[in-house]
Order: sequence, then structure tokens, then C-alpha cells
Amino acid sequence: MATCFWLRSCGAQRLGSTFPGCRLRPRAGGLVPASRPAPGPAQLRGYAGGLAGLSAALLRTDSFVGGRWLPAAATFPVQDPASGAALGMVADCGVREARAAVRAAYEAFCSWREVSAKERSSLLRKWYNLMIQNKDDLARIITAESGKPLKEAHGEILYSAFFLEWFSEEARRVYGDIIYTPAKDRRALVLKQPIGVAAVITPWNFPSAMITRKVGAALAAGCTVVVKPAEDTPFSALALAELASQAGIPSGVYNVIPCSRKNAKEVGEAICTDPLVSKISFTGSTTTGKILLHHAANSVKRVSMELGGLAPFIVFDSANVDQAVAGAMASKFRNTGQTCVCSNQFLVQRGIHDAFVKAFAEAMKKNLRVGNGFEEGTTQGPLINEKAVEKVEKQVNDAVSKGATIVTGGKRHQLGKNFFEPTLLCNVTQDMLCTHEETFGPLAPVIKFNTEEEAIAIANAADVGLAGYFYSQDPAQIWRVAEQLEVGMVGVNEGLISSVECPFGGVKQSGLGREGSKYGIDEYLELKYVCYGGL
Ligand code: NAP
Repeated sequence: MATCFWLRSCGAQRLGSTFPGCRLRPRAGGLVPASRPAPGPAQLRGYAGGLAGLSAALLRTDSFVGGRWLPAAATFPVQDPASGAALGMVADCGVREARAAVRAAYEAFCSWREVSAKERSSLLRKWYNLMIQNKDDLARIITAESGKPLKEAHGEILYSAFFLEWFSEEARRVYGDIIYTPAKDRRALVLKQPIGVAAVITPWNFPSAMITRKVGAALAAGCTVVVKPAEDTPFSALALAELASQAGIPSGVYNVIPCSRKNAKEVGEAICTDPLVSKISFTGSTTTGKILLHHAANSVKRVSMELGGLAPFIVFDSANVDQAVAGAMASKFRNTGQTCVCSNQFLVQRGIHDAFVKAFAEAMKKNLRVGNGFEEGTTQGPLINEKAVEKVEKQVNDAVSKGATIVTGGKRHQLGKNFFEPTLLCNVTQDMLCTHEETFGPLAPVIKFNTEEEAIAIANAADVGLAGYFYSQDPAQIWRVAEQLEVGMVGVNEGLISSVECPFGGVKQSGLGREGSKYGIDEYLELKYVCYGGL
């Protein structure tokens, strides 16, 4: 089935009238509801079962700043990674647009921080409801721009929407403290206040959820945001803007400035060094994270960094092989191996090694189907681009040249330049690239080990520590290993661990801070101590 559609700039009325009926009261800062121009026609060259019939209102190509859809002087193309077909041309924002977006966000912050938590909660809930109402269209946008199988895209939209729902609830549960000091005539109070404008930079592999995981928390806390989505996947961020506008999120609270990779460095620098920005929240590679940390250092901004991982997946002799294989399939091959928590290396104890490898290979052959993300039955879509394919190919070739054995897969897939065969390698050793470089593709390398100490030493040798998984039926071992693994998240006899209720984040060079859960909102709040004397 061909996968292409042509998306033209919606031609929506720009700088449109304000959205009537919003119950928010404007304050000194000029809080007004976001404008909601009538959408123009999006021209689609649809494919059966694909984007035909997709809501034109969601297919936005301009930036969204201060509640307005604004073009930029230039545009950049977005492509379907499965077919290479052009999806559309999107506003290529530069430093000027970035600064304007920060100003709009700052003006909105002066009002949004005064909006009651109950009202913020209710607006986030409306945004959530709209995501659920539009979930099928939103999922199709994800599959079109990222290549992710449609079923997974549906899963991402629910996961993404649940962050808005969760933080709509958390918005009303921000509490301070009263502290009794030795001085009888004083009371000490601790207030929690929104930090300010947050610069939000997100990757392409979860084009929707990586935005709402940050923005839900930020808006709930009373912060406003400027979002720079990845070049490959701006449509999801812009569709979210349309729904935010429909939900009545006030102008300037949620801003989106898409830009090409060519402009990412200077746009990133502009938003991350602007004195009106108080917080940088980034998800992406450790390399980019370090650049942004430098920006943050110069003006001492708060940061949240969700960076790369190198997740170990350890199978001990006592493990249940079927359970371990099911977990390995889930943790390795979701999004064709392109998630930060995907298992990167499989450490399998000598006694169970052969049974595990055999069952894993059989499961891969039986359950994985490479194809276009829109096709029924596809479990493995394309990688995001040819550079990603080259990285997997290089790791396979390096491992084989150093003695690894290909159990299944091992080469590019005949479907096209962005496809790679799901690959299982055994006889892998620690001198191979695939054991110390994040793969971000469908490659499962298996290292054989003898003792628990050895497995932990290999796992903890990494300079990153995001997720880690292990399979064991020995309770004492489970406690020992869970406590010793140097990661932020551990799956014990479980390969899928992400949930909005639980804290997501890493240690070492995998990042700083936590997202989701009851802790996520703290990333957007400052503590203020008030000493109330003379009592
Ligand atoms: P990336 O290259 O670091 O890009 C992420 C974002 O940063 C994109 O929007 C990118 O824009 C932008 N960017 C790149 N260089 C920049 C610069 N100098 N200044 C400002 N912004 C810049 O990461 P990626 O390859 O897209 O994403 C994959 C990585 O993300 C993996 O390492 C993965 O582990 C990590 N990740 C982590 C988590 C987590 O929660 N810990 C979740 C998902 C992904 P362009 O798109 O225009 O280049």
C-alpha cells in the first residue's frame, strides 16, 4: 500500500478573531483566549485507509505564537520516512520568530500564573478530551511523519493524552508547608510558585507524548511554554496547538515554533539563552543535552534533561524463558527499536543462554512484520531516516567483524532505504560498538555471562543509566539487582514500564529530573520560603 499524501498550507485565516465563550478573566498581563480561525482546506492525496478524511483543522503548517498561526519567511519539507513522499512544507522559524514566541509566552505567563488551579485544571481536561475525540486523526499524523505502526501511534496518542489528564488532576494538588521554628514569634511558610516560561525541545520518536509529558506539567504549575519540535515531526506539535486553541488555552500559553535542522542550533540557543525563559526542558540525545546545559549555565536556568540510554536486559538462570522472551520483544522492538528505553544489550546467563536465544529468534520470526506503518499487521516500520539505518548497519558489521554471529536478520530490508531487518546477534563481546553506543534500531545483541556480579558490572559500565530490565525468579536476587543497577527505571520481569503515574527519567548522562508522576510537576515549581514574624 503506498503511503503518501500531500499537505498544503491550510490557508487558515491568520491573526483571526478571538475565541468567544472563554470564562477566563483578562488581567493586567492581557490574558485572552487563543484565537480559533476557521480551518481552510488541506489538500490530501490520500491512500486507502491512511489519511483520507483526516480533519483539515489538524493539519497545520504555520507556527503558533501568541494564539496566532504565523508563516515564516521560509519553509522546510517534511517527508514520510516509509516512502520518502513529501508530506508538506512547514514554517521554518528562525531567531526572530523564536524571540517573538518567548515574548508571547512571557506576556501570557504574567496572567496564566494568576489563573486559579481549578481553571487551569479544567482547561487541561478540555484539551485532553479533544485529544481523545481526535485520537484517530492524531495517530495517523504520527504514523505519516514518523513511520511508526498505526497501532503504536494509537498507543502513543492515549499515552500522550493521559499526561494532560494526569496533570489536570495534579494542578489542584500543589501544596506548600508551614514550619515551626525555634522562634516563638515567627512562622515559616513554604510556597510553591510557577517558574516562568519554559523552553521545550522534543525529539521525533514520540512526536506527541514527549510534548504533553512536559507541557501538561508546565501548564498545570502555571508556566507557559515555547515548543520546538523535531524537524522530522512538526505536524503532531502543531495539531496539539490547534486542539489547545479549541480547548480555550489562552493565547501565548502554548506556542510552537517548528524549524528545519539547519536552524535548530540557533533557534535552540535563542530560546535557551533568552532572559525571559526560566526553564529548559529537553528530550533528545545526550550530545544535544550537553549543548543545552551550556546554554542553561550562562544564565543559571532550571533544567530537565531526558537523554539517551543504553538499557541492559539481563536474563538470569532462574528466569522463566517465555516471560523473558515476551519482555525482550516488547522492550526491544517497540517503535522499531527507536525508543530511549529500548533494550540495547541482552546479557544472558550461561545456563539459560541457548534456550533464550532459540526462543527469542523464533518469536522474532513469528511476530515481527516489517512494512509500512499504515498496513494492517505491520509491527516494524521504517527507521526515521537513512542515517539511522547506516548506524544499525555499521554496528552489525562491526560486531560480525569481531566475531559475533547473526542468528536472524543482519541487513537492510528490501522494502526501501529506511528499512532494516530485525536482527539478533549472539557471541557478542564488550569490545563491539553495539554494546556501548545507543543503537536506536531493531538490533538485539546477546552477551553470555557467568555470574550476577559480572552482569551488573557490564550493565553499570555504561556512562548513561535510563532504563534497565532483568528476569529472575529469585526474590533475594531481585532486590539485590534492582538496587544495584545504575539506572533511573527498572523493569523486573517486565519489558514495558512507562506509565503517566510513574516517574520517568535517568541517572548519570541519561539526564536530570523526572517527568510524569506526582514528581513531574515539581520540575516547573520554585520553592519560596516566607518568614512571617512579629506574631
Ligand atoms: P537530538 O538530535 O538530540 O534532537 C532532539 C531535539 O533537539 C530535536 O528537536 C532537534 O532538532 C533538537 N536539536 C538538535 N540539535 C540542537 C541544538 N544544537 N540546539 C537545540 N536543539 C537541537 O535527538 P534525536 O536523535 O532526535 O532523538 C533521539 C534521542 O533522544 C536518543 O538518544 C533517545 O534516547 C533520546 N530520547 C530520550 C528520551 C527520554 O525520555 N530520556 C525520550 C525519547 C528520546 P532537529 O530535529 O531539527 O535536529
